[in-house]
Amino acid sequence: MVRLKEVIVEADHLVTCNPSDKVIKNAAIYVVDGIISALGTKKEIHKDYSSSKIIDGENKILMPGLVNTHSHSVQTLLRGKADDLALLDWLKEVILPGEANFTANEIYVSSLLGFAEMIRTGTTTANDMLTTHDSEKGVEAAIECGVRTRIGKMLMDSNQGYPTSMIKSADEVMEEAIKHIGQYHGIENKRIKYSLNARFLLSCTPKLMKLIVETHNQYEDLMIHTHASESKAECKEVERIYKKSYIRALRDIGALGSKTIVAHGIWLDDDEYKIIKETNTRISHNPSSNSKLASGICDVKRYLEDGIIIGLATDGAPCNNNLDIFREMRLATFLQKIKYLNERTLPAKQILRMATIEGAKAINWDNDIGSIEVGKKADVIQVDLSDVNALPFYEPISHLVYSASGKDVSMVMIDGKIVFQEQTFTTLDINKLKEEVAIYQKKWIE
Ligand SMILES: [Zn+2]
Repeated sequence: MVRLKEVIVEADHLVTCNPSDKVIKNAAIYVVDGIISALGTKKEIHKDYSSSKIIDGENKILMPGLVNTHSHSVQTLLRGKADDLALLDWLKEVILPGEANFTANEIYVSSLLGFAEMIRTGTTTANDMLTTHDSEKGVEAAIECGVRTRIGKMLMDSNQGYPTSMIKSADEVMEEAIKHIGQYHGIENKRIKYSLNARFLLSCTPKLMKLIVETHNQYEDLMIHTHASESKAECKEVERIYKKSYIRALRDIGALGSKTIVAHGIWLDDDEYKIIKETNTRISHNPSSNSKLASGICDVKRYLEDGIIIGLATDGAPCNNNLDIFREMRLATFLQKIKYLNERTLPAKQILRMATIEGAKAINWDNDIGSIEVGKKADVIQVDLSDVNALPFYEPISHLVYSASGKDVSMVMIDGKIVFQEQTFTTLDINKLKEEVAIYQKKWIE
């Protein structure tokens, strides 16, 4: 994977996701050293710039790479093993034992498979939670495949029926996390940033949460990433332990703020919405996961109307069961239309922004990514418009949200490097990865 010194990327339609949602026909961008240096019509770009490398854009939409604001790449080998279960059973019966039993190599393979699927389907940035042990192998997979990520080990110290091998003391958990911050935070041209991933309040003691908040305040550009208010049963359990509701408990611990992203956020009362707004906490919306686990329908319309920053996400493969943000866009808009029985709720343009620039804002990376604008990093994708599901073609944003799937993505560039093109991954050996997945699969079938 070599970053080209300069490259021109063309498209029939350039969907910028800039503040005015500008779309340019017969367009091109000029990329130098991984940075978008110019954009305009093809004519303008070729008049002013030249490059030995031109990526053709016939029948293509060029758009910002998608931002997945909540993923668990490490769970990908558990895809299809945990269907039709509610959140707490799903966790206790399959997910936590599954993660706990992974060997170090399986953590690598599982994470790489997850990132490969995200890249294949147009995601260039993932806000990712690994597991409690051998998380270095997950970070290694991210470094190798070229994905942009906030990533870190899973932090948990409370043994409430979870596998004991996953539980260490709060001090031990944080000691390892702090070591990893030193090793990984800001490496690979700042493509990899560490993240403090507090699983949820039922697996983190107040002591661990306090240490997470203290550590978080000591570092530049370090976020807290956690699950909250996902299912009613979970909220009830948190209230029983903390004697207050979930979002109030997080606020009182000091865990909310603009550098915190909360995945799900479904069951909030009026004051809890106010707390999210006042603290400028970020929300990650996971429509497929919330539907499959029957957790509930997140009130995306309300978050948007309250001016709360909210991005889109897949969650992990076992609760989805895929990692394709195109499918999340489609489902997210449909769910809001049904919730409000209003066909105008969460229109295509708005959900596309949640999958790109608003997602980038949610993880505090919008200075660099999330839109195609001069000065931003070249994290861009081309979407093919030549297949039957794209015909006829009238309007690019409608097509991206309602017709396309991740399989229509034909080129993926991250940090100016092509990581997927012409059905080929440039950063990983997909056949070797498939063989490794088959070995794990065989272990469970026999
Ligand atoms: Zn999750």
